[in-house]
Amino acid sequence: MSETDIFVGRCIYCGGPGETDEHIIPHALGGKHILHKASCEKCRSITSQWERNPIKENWVEARAALDYPSRHTNFDKEIFPLEVVLRDGTKTVLNLKREETFGLASFLEYPLPAFFGGPNNEKGALVTGAMLIGFGPNSKAVAGKYGIKEISFTTSHKGTHFERMVIKIAYCAAVATWGLGCFEEDYALPVIIGTKNNVSFLMGCDPLGKIIPLIGKVGGDNCINVGVYRKKGDDKIMLLSG
Ligand SMILES: [Zn+2]
Repeated sequence: MSETDIFVGRCIYCGGPGETDEHIIPHALGGKHILHKASCEKCRSITSQWERNPIKENWVEARAALDYPSRHTNFDKEIFPLEVVLRDGTKTVLNLKREETFGLASFLEYPLPAFFGGPNNEKGALVTGAMLIGFGPNSKAVAGKYGIKEISFTTSHKGTHFERMVIKIAYCAAVATWGLGCFEEDYALPVIIGTKNNVSFLMGCDPLGKIIPLIGKVGGDNCINVGVYRKKGDDKIMLLSG
């Protein structure tokens, strides 16, 4: 998706007044695509709460390493503590600067969405695993400099917040691509505004590549792919975003 700049003029979540701009990918993750005047203040306060845990709590280090913007934090003045065991067996905490941070971020893994035959959970998400990725450009050099043998990392995922943020990004991408009137039946909206919890119906991973090849592999930084999908014997066309 190239840089998007679309005027909407009403809330894409409740149909109310379009009071604030909506970034398709959150600004704090480097998102530049904007739906102008596309959310009311009330819906904004609901949707922004899903972003706090992943973006402001779990991914601060990674955002600093990747040079993503922050409205409230100057990453150059921040210290990033890292629990380590040194080669001589000493346990300590290193207070690293931005340019030395390992940029650690944890990501959860999920089964296929229930719509595509994965397991359903009416009450939330189903998690099958987790992975830790380091975005720091100099991790090996820093590990050598300080003599680091092991690192210790703690993260806390608040239930369904990250998942709802992802669903919101997908919904915004669909609105940007096909317009607000493109949904005959909207599965995502109740989850985004918090009136339904069946996250696992909509959102998941595709470890065997069963569905994603239909809409192309995601590649590069901040890339969203959107596409359509029709189940065999079903008239419904589903909008997909990956
Ligand atoms: Zn609204």
